[in-house]
Amino acid sequence: MIDFHLHTLYSDGSYTPFELIRLLKKIGVTSFAITDHDSILGISEAEKIAEELKLRFIAGVEFEAYYDIENEQYVHILGYNFSKLEEIEKYLIKLRAERINLIYDYIELFNSIGMSISFDEINSLTPGIHLTTSHIAAGLVKKGYASTFEEAKRAFLLPSSKYYINRNHYTVEFIIDMILKSGGIPVLAHPCRIHMTDDEIETFISKMKLYGLQGIEAFYLMSSETQKSFYQSIALKNGLFVTAGSDWHSPEDNYNPGIELSYEKECEICVNLKI
Ligand SMILES: [Zn+2]
Ligand SMILES: [Zn+2]
Repeated sequence: MIDFHLHTLYSDGSYTPFELIRLLKKIGVTSFAITDHDSILGISEAEKIAEELKLRFIAGVEFEAYYDIENEQYVHILGYNFSKLEEIEKYLIKLRAERINLIYDYIELFNSIGMSISFDEINSLTPGIHLTTSHIAAGLVKKGYASTFEEAKRAFLLPSSKYYINRNHYTVEFIIDMILKSGGIPVLAHPCRIHMTDDEIETFISKMKLYGLQGIEAFYLMSSETQKSFYQSIALKNGLFVTAGSDWHSPEDNYNPGIELSYEKECEICVNLKI
């Protein structure tokens, strides 16, 4: 069993690398990657534990990349096995600082218009260190400043709102390039979560291939069998390889990490990710 999409406390998961890897060992996962959002802070700990438990491990990161900034439409791109870790860490420090600064800017704005919400209140909404505008929206709902998550987003967090605070939006091309420059392997995460028609996804993926995309997470745990075959066929057409991941965050996910494929398929994925 393999799993190349997992989160820990070093982003928005609830387990430490130690707790996660012990779980993986228990359920029979033999090769895996930790792919925290904008963070490789858990990898030296993970590397040590994986070695002790005789599991095969590679470092990964999950990035947000925009394809339609106007409508806040983005995809997630996974980067694996960076040969220049100091290079990618330079970018990650910047990305994390930008996220935190945005939260502080919004709090200042809310307080200036008479809304009482603090950084700690927003921070308490995640067990990990990864804070996004979604946590701001959740905080506003919790404090009663919006009745739904969507309403909170519309009122404050989308470019169409008068309160919108602009920030850096990294394009798909930029993120893929950043991964490649850091000696990593770029893979499109959970294609089943992209809001596009099948035709649009095909065109989009062939464009990403031109930017340097190398793989697609075709075996995403939540994808249907039809979706899995569709993404495999797009991969084949574009000369991309496929990967497998569960995107497990915490026991609250109500499913276990780990993807079971044929021995040959699992080996093929490991070879492509250079594990
Ligand atoms: Zn994701
Ligand atoms: Zn994820």
